[in-house]
Amino acid sequence: MHRMYGPIFFVSILGAFREIAAASQHINKDLTNHYNARFHVYEEPYNIDFTYHNYEQMSRFLRTTSLRFQNLTALYSIGKSVKGRDLWVMVVSSSPYEHMIGKPDVKYVANIHGNEAVGRELMLHLIYFFVTNYGSDPYITWLLDNTRIHILPSMNPDGFEVSKEGYCEGGQGRYNARGFDLNRNFPDYFKQNNKKSQPETEAVKEWVSKIQFVLSGSLHGGALVASYPFDNTPNSLFQSYTSAPSISPDDDVFQHLSLVYSRNHGSMYQGLPCSPSQPGFKNGITNGAQWYPLTGGMQDFNYVWNGCMEITLELSCCKYPPASDLQFYWEENRVALIKFLAEAHRGVRGFVIDENGNPIERASIKVKSRDVSFLTTKYGEFWRILLPGIYKLEVYANGYLPREVEFRVVEQHPTSFNVTLYRASRHPIEDETGSNFYNGNRDHTNRDHVIHFRPHSGTNTASEANSGIFSSLSNGFNSFVNNWFG
Ligand SMILES: [Zn+2]
Repeated sequence: MHRMYGPIFFVSILGAFREIAAASQHINKDLTNHYNARFHVYEEPYNIDFTYHNYEQMSRFLRTTSLRFQNLTALYSIGKSVKGRDLWVMVVSSSPYEHMIGKPDVKYVANIHGNEAVGRELMLHLIYFFVTNYGSDPYITWLLDNTRIHILPSMNPDGFEVSKEGYCEGGQGRYNARGFDLNRNFPDYFKQNNKKSQPETEAVKEWVSKIQFVLSGSLHGGALVASYPFDNTPNSLFQSYTSAPSISPDDDVFQHLSLVYSRNHGSMYQGLPCSPSQPGFKNGITNGAQWYPLTGGMQDFNYVWNGCMEITLELSCCKYPPASDLQFYWEENRVALIKFLAEAHRGVRGFVIDENGNPIERASIKVKSRDVSFLTTKYGEFWRILLPGIYKLEVYANGYLPREVEFRVVEQHPTSFNVTLYRASRHPIEDETGSNFYNGNRDHTNRDHVIHFRPHSGTNTASEANSGIFSSLSNGFNSFVNNWFG
C-alpha cells in the first residue's frame, strides 16, 4: 500500500478539482468537510448500510466513493435543484473520466418522485457493489470494462428531504420544491406540454443531449412493474380510461428489455397486483399508456428526442418503506439491475466515416421501419439495441450521399460495422425539410424522401465487419453471457 501513496494522492487532488469544478456555489461551505473526508477516507472502513441517506449523507457516500475508487468512479453534478442541492451523477466504469470510443454509455435515474425512495438507496448499493466487485467478479469486471454507467441516485433531492419514511402512498415529497411533477415536465411528442420547465428537468435534458446514452432505467415506487414507451398516446383525452396500448416502433425491443428486468427480479415476473384495487401485469411488464397515459414523461422524451431506450421500473408497492425492508429490495433487484444494463451490448453498433476514414458527427441514423432516428457522436459512433433478425440501417449526413446497409443481428454478440459515406459531388444535401413522424423538436430533420443508395456489394457491409476492435468484446460478451447469471 505504501508504494501506492504518491500516485493516489496526485489523482486524489485531480479528482477533487474535477468535483469542485462540477459543483459550483456552495462548495466553499463544504470545503473543510471535503478535505477532512479526503484525509480520512482510507482510515475508515468503506461500507454502505441499509438505511436511508438524506442529501448530506448521500453526498458524503458519493464523495467517499469517488475518492476511494478513483480509477473506477467519477462524481459530477449536472445542475442544481430548486433549493440548490446538487444533482449528483456517479460514473462507474474502468474509464470513469473519458468516454470509451465504441463502447456504450448507459444510465439509471432514480428518485424523480422524491417520495419514491427505494430506487435512490438501491443506486447507492449498486455503486458499492460495482466498485467492491470489480476485479474479482468477472462479469462485473467485463461490464465496467465495456460500459460507462452513469447513476443519478436522486433527480429530486428536494422532494426526498420532505418525504416521510413509512409512507407507502400519497404525494408528499413527490413534487419538486415548486410543486411540479418532474415526470410530467419533459417535452412531449404527442401533446403540447405547457408545464413550466423546472431546473431539475433542464439539467437532465442538457445531460442527455451531451451524452448519447444507449439504454436507461428510470426508477420509481408505488407499483411492481416494468413499464415501457409510449407513456402517451395521440388521443389520450379520449382514451384515459380505456387502457389502449400506445405502441412504439421498437415495441419488440422495449418488451424484451422490460422482460429482462422482470425475469431477473425476485418477484416482478409474477405480475401480482400491489392491492386489490390495483391492476396486475402479465409477466410484470406493461406498455405505459396501457397502464395509464401521461404527458411529459421522461421515458418517451429519452426515446423520441435522443434515441435512448429508457423504461420505467416500479420497484416497490410501498413508495417509502421502512429502512428495515431495504435489504430485501436490494436482494430482489440486484441481478436485474446489473443484467438490464448489459443489454446495451445487444444489437448493432459501429462508426459512420467518410471516404478518408474520418468520423462523421451528427449523421442521422434510423433502422428501416423504426421511425425513431438518432445521431452519431463526435467520434461517428452509433449503437442500437435490436433483437436477432435482418435489418436495414439508413444513414444520412449533410453533404453526403445517403446510404442504406443491410445487416444481421444475432443473439450471442453485437453486430459491428462501419458505414462509409461518400460526398455528394454536386447539390449538397442540405436544408431538407422532410417531415418525419417522430422527429420531435430536435434540431435535425430526417430525409425520408431522398433517394436511398444501395451499398456497393462487398463494401462495408455487416458480413465483412466482424473483425476489428469489437471482436474481442463480442467473444468476451458471449462467454460471459453463457457462463454468468445463467
Ligand atoms: Zn414515480
